[in-house]
Amino acid sequence: MKILILGGTAESRALAGALAKRPDCAVTLSLAGRTAKPLQQCVPTRTGGFGGAEGLAAFLRDENIDVLIDATHPYAAQISANAARASELASVRLLALRRPAWGKAQGDQWIEVETIADAVEALGAAPRRAFLALGRKEIAPFERAPQHTYLVRSVDPVDPPLAVPHAIYLTARGSFNEADDRALLERHRIDVIVAKNSGGDASYGKIAGARALHLPVVMVKRPALPEAASVETVEDALAWLNHAITAAATRGV
Ligand code: NAP
Repeated sequence: MKILILGGTAESRALAGALAKRPDCAVTLSLAGRTAKPLQQCVPTRTGGFGGAEGLAAFLRDENIDVLIDATHPYAAQISANAARASELASVRLLALRRPAWGKAQGDQWIEVETIADAVEALGAAPRRAFLALGRKEIAPFERAPQHTYLVRSVDPVDPPLAVPHAIYLTARGSFNEADDRALLERHRIDVIVAKNSGGDASYGKIAGARALHLPVVMVKRPALPEAASVETVEDALAWLNHAITAAATRGV
């Protein structure tokens, strides 16, 4: 079975790793190419956009892909929409691997907003010390609120830096645990966090840290994603694939 995994997440890497040595699967992983030095992957990897849904559909046809797995980040809404459309255009089965969102726990002070622009507004007029736990390409709207001090953590450096007088940049690749993130929040005297509801363990440290320190979190809501057969874990994705492989073998495909 020829499988294309749309990746860029810990789950896509784990799924590719689990399938790498199987003789009944030929897996290609696709990355957008956002990070300068992506982690080593254990299956053949291609990098860069396909040129929209039509481009992805053409790739599926040209490479004779049997199954497309959308294991992208829950906020990567464009590629997920493209995956749904391309699977229709090329008549290729689609499975979405979507990690569940974090739920609010007792003590959490979340201010939920629709967009990053709304998150800027939610910080208010008075100067604050905000930890921006967002992608480095998404933080430009905070230039509209230069009265705040920003702590920005990203995998690659923010270049150019934000056009604001007070910003501190850290480069680091997750995962991030609660103890370390709590220490970070305290060290930088952070009084508010801006985050996405990414789900999973790798970036939960700041959420747990905020709860422990009684800090508010401006939480940007998840975007709407297309309807698709979906699972929440790598194990369930493997079970779905095993079923698809058995069904194809029974049909003699
Ligand atoms: P996006 O806005 O949904 O996609 C924008 C365009 O980037 C797509 O139309 C596609 O270009 C290309 N693209 C995205 N993911 C791709 C992939 N896996 N393989 C090939 N092309 C891809 O995506 P995004 O939010 O910028 O995320 C980009 C990547 O970073 C994804 O792989 C995602 O899993 C990962 N990521 C995103 C976030 C986040 O918060 N958004 C967080 C962690 C990791 P074409 O239309 O030309 O095909």
